[in-house]
Amino acid sequence: MTDIKEILDRLGIKPVNNGISTGQINWAGKGAVIESFSPVDGQKIAEVAAAERSDYEQIIEKSTAAFKVWKLIPAPKRGEIVRQMGDELRKFKSELGTLVSYEMGKSLQEGLGEVQEMIDICDFAVGLSRQLYGLSMHSERPQHRMYEQWHPIGVVGIISAFNFPVAVWSWNAMLAWVCGDVCVWKPSEKTPLTALACQHIIETVLKNNEVPEGVSCILTGGRECGEWLANDPKIALVSATGSTPMGRSVGEAVARRLGRSLLELGGNNAIIVTPSADLNVAVPGIVFGAVGTAGQRCTSTRRIIVQEDIYEEVKKRLVKAYAQLCIGNPLETHNHVGPLIDKSAVKQYQETVRKVKEAGGTFIVMPEILSGEGYESGCYVAPCVAEVANSYAIVQHETFAPILYLIKYRDLDEAIEIQNDVPQGLSSAIFTLNMRESEQFLSQSGSDCGIANVNIGTSGAEIGGAFGGEKETGGGRESGSDAWKAYMRRQTNTINYGTALPLAQGIKFEI
Ligand code: NAD
Repeated sequence: MTDIKEILDRLGIKPVNNGISTGQINWAGKGAVIESFSPVDGQKIAEVAAAERSDYEQIIEKSTAAFKVWKLIPAPKRGEIVRQMGDELRKFKSELGTLVSYEMGKSLQEGLGEVQEMIDICDFAVGLSRQLYGLSMHSERPQHRMYEQWHPIGVVGIISAFNFPVAVWSWNAMLAWVCGDVCVWKPSEKTPLTALACQHIIETVLKNNEVPEGVSCILTGGRECGEWLANDPKIALVSATGSTPMGRSVGEAVARRLGRSLLELGGNNAIIVTPSADLNVAVPGIVFGAVGTAGQRCTSTRRIIVQEDIYEEVKKRLVKAYAQLCIGNPLETHNHVGPLIDKSAVKQYQETVRKVKEAGGTFIVMPEILSGEGYESGCYVAPCVAEVANSYAIVQHETFAPILYLIKYRDLDEAIEIQNDVPQGLSSAIFTLNMRESEQFLSQSGSDCGIANVNIGTSGAEIGGAFGGEKETGGGRESGSDAWKAYMRRQTNTINYGTALPLAQGIKFEI
């Protein structure tokens, strides 16, 4: 068994922690104490001081001042600092990955994978720091040159969810930093320690490079701290990851002050399984997607839409696969499924099961709240599968738990219609060996999601692609491709190097 105390020690975390930090300086917040409990065994790991409004004001003052210095450092030099952060993360991968697993409850493999994602985005950001390209355009006027530049925007507020407690911050922060912005991170109140660990890890890099205090800030606390960021005109961009109700509230507040938001919200992800699908590939893809991270990924597979001719076969294989799942301590590598984040998530699981039954759904893999040895935290539930209709109100809703819905279809048009007929639009997939089916699924009359895959599941993504979704998922894009543009402002420049002043559109103005 991993010695968590030793790991906290190596990460520089003490039993009572200062939750407020501007990178080089940590001080105790004056707000309430947040207790961090592990869902793995129910133990209290540590206490973290939350921020009060006066702490917040200090942080924003420091970050605003730091922006004035940081934005003047050439982007490739900022990239070099991010490269060093990636190296520090490499050094502490095992410790941070273990803490992610223990504080959040995902498997150790997934905890380490999350830290690997942070390292990968550092590498991506380093390359990006030399590629913040703007276009040159041909001016319609003689002896004129027109081009665009991308400039830093200012303070970026990052609000993150408990389920990817560290990776989501790095997707935002590493890009924002090479773009010349400074970051204030409001981590989930359910996982404050992993956030403090990240700040400790990068602190030596900040110090060694004499980075101004305030380039990387942490603001621990609950919803209220997120609301401060959303309502503050000093925050140029609010990047918020979490539930749709949270995103609606943040989006409205930021829009009211005509600020910029990047919203990464809930999903209701489906996989279509067609008659030509290779079920040896499809079934593991479905099961990992549905039970990985105990169904607590925004990209978790929630719905399986299966063609009627193969429906019974898929059902049989799913039941068999679910019977082999091991549920227990996620730090023990033979377990496939760990706990839910807390008891309130267990209540939501219970409530969803009740509503599925009430709507007429039939469970083919039974739900259960697990108790007894190894399950003392009260957060372990059995992954379950129910046959349902897509129209049930509860099926239209994202429940953050390992509950999988099975839905039957006749032809592909109907399957795509079912897949799209939910308020969310994050991730989707089709399992097929038929080229016409896969192309239709990927076409404009196919999936309406931000992510559409063929012969891989819905869950997870590589950092190289732009990540995000449509409709109630919020429309934001993070991580790869040209997602960096969200962290910069575009400026169009026209330069006249001639001796006349021709106007655009041939307008004449003579004096
Ligand atoms: P949550 O919405 O409860 O909390 C997320 C964060 O928002 C927390 O830091 C919280 O303190 C803060 N917050 C809550 N209400 C707020 C408000 N009104 N104003 C400002 N901040 C507020 O979500 P959660 O339970 O931590 O995470 C699970 C949810 O996150 C799921 O819906 C999941 O799909 C979603 N998620 C989405 C993505 C994505 O990229 N699309 C990634 C991870 C998680």
